[in-house]
Amino acid sequence: MIPGPFSYHRPATVADAVKLLATLGDDARPLAGGHSLVPMMKLRLATPEHLVDLHDVDGLKGIRRDGSRIVIGAMTTQHELLASEEIASLLPILHETALLIADPQVRYCGTIGGNVANGDPGNDMPALMMVLDATYHLEGASGAREVAASEFYQGAYFTALEPGELLTSISIPLPADGHGYAYEKLKRKVGDYATAAAAVVLTMAGGKVATCKVGLTNLSETPLLAEDAAKAVIGTSLDDAALKKAAVAAEAIMAPASDARGPVEYRKHVGGIMVMRALQRAVARAK
Ligand SMILES: Cc1cc2nc3c(=O)[nH]c(=O)nc-3n(C[C@H](O)[C@H](O)[C@H](O)COP(=O)(O)OP(=O)(O)OC[C@H]3O[C@@H](n4cnc5c(N)ncnc54)[C@H](O)[C@@H]3O)c2cc1C
Repeated sequence: MIPGPFSYHRPATVADAVKLLATLGDDARPLAGGHSLVPMMKLRLATPEHLVDLHDVDGLKGIRRDGSRIVIGAMTTQHELLASEEIASLLPILHETALLIADPQVRYCGTIGGNVANGDPGNDMPALMMVLDATYHLEGASGAREVAASEFYQGAYFTALEPGELLTSISIPLPADGHGYAYEKLKRKVGDYATAAAAVVLTMAGGKVATCKVGLTNLSETPLLAEDAAKAVIGTSLDDAALKKAAVAAEAIMAPASDARGPVEYRKHVGGIMVMRALQRAVARAK
């Protein structure tokens, strides 16, 4: 339960942080809220020789409107997301999801950047970012680039981040006025990661689903966009047959691990139920 030895660095700018990471190489890791990395270090599942703490890095915090997008600094905590009136009114599904992460103590420290950069299939924000069409802004020694959330996740703890690259902000287009949304998460107890979870954002027109995106958390090695599930409900009034079809289509792409949260068949079954509940709640909220 005691981490291995490491050196601690506290840069003040993105340029300095990126330079440090490039110089220190594979043995260095950025440290954000520490609520995924430090437990891994205590278990000796991660043994970085250098930690580059991002807390003093200028410009990594905050939530701002940029035209029709919301831009969130990587070091913005889950607690700060929950306290933001702008997030509650413009991106209510982000508020709803942040509230389902762990407990207040974790949310005071854990950052949105750490949550999406971590690559843990159990993190709740990545599937939501895919559903919201978010873009990640990355900065490294060879410059800056943008990567769509939907293209970022490549395997468990394996993302599009190049060694030494930092995620500095997340940019999310504002969903359509009157959109419906829901994040449904089944967990064993308060504060637990998802046994299965589903994110839905949709719009309605003339009593029918006009657009829809469905995301899945902890039901594969990476977060998933359930495109066939979304297609199954578009053009329908979300009758029972369409709901069932969406659940079956979503279950077809799930490949969860069999672990303490349940065997594969159980997790797929409850995954389908999360999809149906999220769709129903999203439709009820749509205007
Ligand atoms: C008891 C407990 C329960 C939890 N339950 C949940 C839950 O239900 N749902 C959930 O989603 N999460 C849960 N978490 C995880 C929590 O949300 C973490 O805070 C989050 O996963 C990581 O964010 P962090 O800021 O703590 O990152 P850190 O732990 O500091 O970093 C995580 C990883 O991301 C890298 N990293 C961090 N920031 C950046 C960046 N800006 N650029 C590049 N790489 C970066 C780090 O090097 C590290 O590899 C739980 C944690 C605990 C301790």
